[in-house]
Amino acid sequence: MSRALMIGAGGVASVAAHKCCQNDGVFKELMIASRTKLRCDDLAAKLAKMGTKTVVTTAQVDADNTQELIALIESYKPDLVINLALPYQDLTIMDACLATKTNYLDTANYEPKETAKFEYKWQWAYQERFKEAGITAILGCGFDPGVTGIFSAYALKHHFDEIHYIDILDANGGDHGYPFATNFNPEINIREITSNGRYWENGEWIETAPLEIKREYNFKEIGDKDMYLLYHEELESLAKNITGIKRIRFFMTFGEKYLTHLRVLENVGMTSIEPIQFGGQEIIPLQFLQAILPDPASLGPRTVGKTNIGCIFQGIKDGKPKTYYLYNICDHQECYREVGSQAISYTTGVPAMIGAMLLLDGRWGGAGVFNVEEMNPDPFMDALNVWGLPWKEDFSPVLVD
Ligand code: NDP
Repeated sequence: MSRALMIGAGGVASVAAHKCCQNDGVFKELMIASRTKLRCDDLAAKLAKMGTKTVVTTAQVDADNTQELIALIESYKPDLVINLALPYQDLTIMDACLATKTNYLDTANYEPKETAKFEYKWQWAYQERFKEAGITAILGCGFDPGVTGIFSAYALKHHFDEIHYIDILDANGGDHGYPFATNFNPEINIREITSNGRYWENGEWIETAPLEIKREYNFKEIGDKDMYLLYHEELESLAKNITGIKRIRFFMTFGEKYLTHLRVLENVGMTSIEPIQFGGQEIIPLQFLQAILPDPASLGPRTVGKTNIGCIFQGIKDGKPKTYYLYNICDHQECYREVGSQAISYTTGVPAMIGAMLLLDGRWGGAGVFNVEEMNPDPFMDALNVWGLPWKEDFSPVLVD
């Protein structure tokens, strides 16, 4: 019998909770706990309509407060904590898991609130303590990071002797009809896009200005899109875990309208994370902007089109050069019909449920802190096909120059 505690009740948590409730043979009990309990209760009411056997309960918790988290974990006694709050809460939640000897899984790596910088060093620093406690932490189990790491582990296991180049391509061909909105948490999303780009080549990081490197790519079922090189957290773990890698890059598509809005917002200071005085109180411009932008969880009914996210691998098999492209195509409206969310939340929430399932049923495990590519990719790849994110292969893809 498995009991999971999910922290967060936003766009991604909503999908993951729906998927846990579809998978009620594994997820016997699920508690959804977040800062705003009303959102947990609204979500639980939607889940109740599914006719699931999973017993869903809700709670209020401030996940910035380790003591509150410990008290909640001690009272509910989950087998696993699924962290679907924001990257700012990763360390407090990991501290609470350590204190209570509870397994941990998340979808985004830790980021300090005051600096727009994400790195695994803070979470990797828990390695020895998780090992000693005999518990597992799985880091970055969404789509990217997440499925991109699983794709890499699968490609290395079944298709290559050595992988030399990986290009991760994330295309969103969806249209929500708003002049400007982000598909996941606006604050986290804008911090990521307005930061410097970075990629790994020949043993070192090459830094670029934000959105400096642009390429055009023809995506299956989406068409031609402009895509831009970004720094993304799985680059750090894959550069470490895929031995022999010579270069790894990450590209994401953005339309001209989105970029024009972003440029204007940046130019007027609305994306800044430096506090300012306003109306007698201190505010952070980016947090104010988030408050007036559409909630990503509300985009589901109005987003049409598809996403195409995957990895192009180049390397050697049996002494010969080989190229291999693994990708998933996801339709925003199909996701909405199934779980009431758009595809960005869906492509993150489904892998979070799959990782949680594999930990709970014992197919994944081990004491310590792991990135997903360190786990066996095979049951995860099978589960993607079963739980709504089937993958496709291409053995002669167009390469990115
Ligand atoms: P949302 O903003 O929609 O939801 C975040 C949730 O976390 C909200 O319910 C929020 O509560 C809750 N929360 C925030 N702070 C606290 C706190 N201190 N204590 C308790 N709860 C808190 O974000 P998303 O669902 O879009 O994203 C969730 C996570 O998924 C993020 O970390 C994001 O970076 C990650 N992600 C990962 C992707 C991947 O592919 N790996 C892709 C997309 C997202 P409240 O309702 O009160 O605001």
